[in-house]
Amino acid sequence: MTAQTHDDAVDMSEFRSTVRAFANAEILPGAAERDESKEFPAHLMRRLAEQDLMGISVPEEFGGLGLSTRAQLVAVEEVARADAALASIYTAHYLGLEPILVGGTEEQKKRWLPGLASGEVLAGFALTEPDAGSDIASMRTVARREDDGWHLSGSKTFISNAREADLVVLFAKTDPSAGFRGITAFAVPKGTPGISYSEPQDKMGIRSAPTYTVYLDDVVLPHDAVIGTEGRGGNIALTALNRARIDVAAMANGIALRAWELGREYASERKQFGHPIFEFQAIQLLLGECDAKLVASRVTADWASDVKDAGQDLRRAASISKFVATEACFSIVDQVVQIHGGAGFMRESEIERLYRDCRILRIFEGTSQIQLLTIAGNAPSIRSTEY
Ligand SMILES: Cc1cc2nc3c(=O)[nH]c(=O)nc-3n(C[C@H](O)[C@H](O)[C@H](O)COP(=O)(O)OP(=O)(O)OC[C@H]3O[C@@H](n4cnc5c(N)ncnc54)[C@H](O)[C@@H]3O)c2cc1C
Repeated sequence: MTAQTHDDAVDMSEFRSTVRAFANAEILPGAAERDESKEFPAHLMRRLAEQDLMGISVPEEFGGLGLSTRAQLVAVEEVARADAALASIYTAHYLGLEPILVGGTEEQKKRWLPGLASGEVLAGFALTEPDAGSDIASMRTVARREDDGWHLSGSKTFISNAREADLVVLFAKTDPSAGFRGITAFAVPKGTPGISYSEPQDKMGIRSAPTYTVYLDDVVLPHDAVIGTEGRGGNIALTALNRARIDVAAMANGIALRAWELGREYASERKQFGHPIFEFQAIQLLLGECDAKLVASRVTADWASDVKDAGQDLRRAASISKFVATEACFSIVDQVVQIHGGAGFMRESEIERLYRDCRILRIFEGTSQIQLLTIAGNAPSIRSTEY
């Protein structure tokens, strides 16, 4: 799919400044309290919708802003810089709308996308199961076609936004013997009978972004709940994940940017041996490395965005952008903890929260190992001049 974008009308640095001002005023101040209370920030999701940030790269014909993926990355980065947990809810929404965008029928796009793009409808994406994580083809949730509709049974786990979402795209086997080709995607509206949820799962980080185990007990969906066509769900899931992995890269870049700011600030204020520690070369080396890694990660994410918007094969670029940015983010945050010394280990310091929050980025939407396998599997041939 080649994106028709309207970036010409938008000054990207102005757009960044606007989102940053909003995030500094409304998101950053309460992030530590939300980490403590684990409360779902419904009011902030409403505020993101009011700022018109819920369908940035969704085409205008379906109610979105029709901007480029780069523009979406700016918003994700700025939200993550202020609160990684909110960014996780936010990017799970984008992940949830992607299957409809890439795999839905025209009728489904018209029915669902305007509400999703305006933020009136919050999305979720339910693929993972207790025994099927990286290996999605081994999923056990089944959907049986009957006269009155599809009957779904099984369970999903670690599902972000599951209980809060108005629409969850859920994957089930319609042909259990067919492996990957037996998977079908379903649109599941909130309140569908037969669905129940665990309590929010207690997590190391992004604690105000709830995840749930979801139980499906003979859930009946209408025949037209199938997104696209039967048996295409595996493909739709992987295509959606590829597109959304760039958002995770942006989330990593936002957290890394905040960590770098905190490192700079602390190094200027903290004095040892009669000098601000910033004057010691060992600290400058750490900060220099953080800056270099962050710039490289941002450039890589922008490159992957351009590959996506050009409608080219995205698998390798998306995995490279996620792998590079999330590994760099973890290293940057760890180095900034080091710059803080003992203060960085204390619950009251912001960098301690960032350390816990950023750990998930190397796991969800495909672990770093899965990204590397995708990169290796899609690398150009040694005879190609693509390098
Ligand atoms: C906070 C959070 C939010 C999440 N949100 C969602 C969501 O909204 N929707 C959703 O569907 N899922 C969600 N997930 C699930 C997430 O995507 C999975 O946890 C992730 O894909 C890994 O699957 P797994 O946990 O089963 O690990 P496993 O697949 O069991 O992997 C365990 C380890 O084995 C490695 N491994 C597995 N296979 C291979 C291989 N072939 N080669 C080399 N190494 C391998 C992995 O890299 C990893 O290190 C979320 C998870 C968390 C923790």
